[in-house]
Amino acid sequence: MSAFSISLPDERATDQLGATLAARLRIGDVVGLKGELGAGKTTLARAILRAAAEDAQLIVPSPTFTLVEVYETPRGSFWHFDLYRLETPEQVFELGWEEALAEGISLIEWPERLGPLLPRHLSVTLEVDGDGRRALLDV
Ligand code: ADP
Ligand code: MG
Repeated sequence: MSAFSISLPDERATDQLGATLAARLRIGDVVGLKGELGAGKTTLARAILRAAAEDAQLIVPSPTFTLVEVYETPRGSFWHFDLYRLETPEQVFELGWEEALAEGISLIEWPERLGPLLPRHLSVTLEVDGDGRRALLDV
């Protein structure tokens, strides 16, 4: 387990981290986006998706109510989950979970909701730091 922390003083810094991650993600990879409400999880997911899609204007809504949104990009299919409202871990199977793991790249807000179903993943924990944010990455 290795960990390091990155300062994200503004959204531009989050965009840069998103681009760096997007360039390294491969089919089958899972990114867990942790942190409280407002910590910046959706903002980082949006930055990853915009970089992967090569479209800085790509509309990336928070999947708070839909629980998942799927994006086809030149780097593969991205599955953006927000599991805050997941009632049981097993409910994730109704969201295309197996296809996401086998054929896509998964970005998961509130990965804790998966309990024992959470696979090996890159963990990114976001926290408020002054006017900006801090990201702690665990591999
Ligand atoms: P979450 O998905 O964790 O609830 P959001 O991504 O919706 O959080 O972000 C909440 C707020 O934080 C947004 O208003 C967003 O503009 C702001 N924000 C996100 N990242 C940063 C950053 N690096 N610096 C400053 N503000 C940020
Ligand atoms: Mg969010």
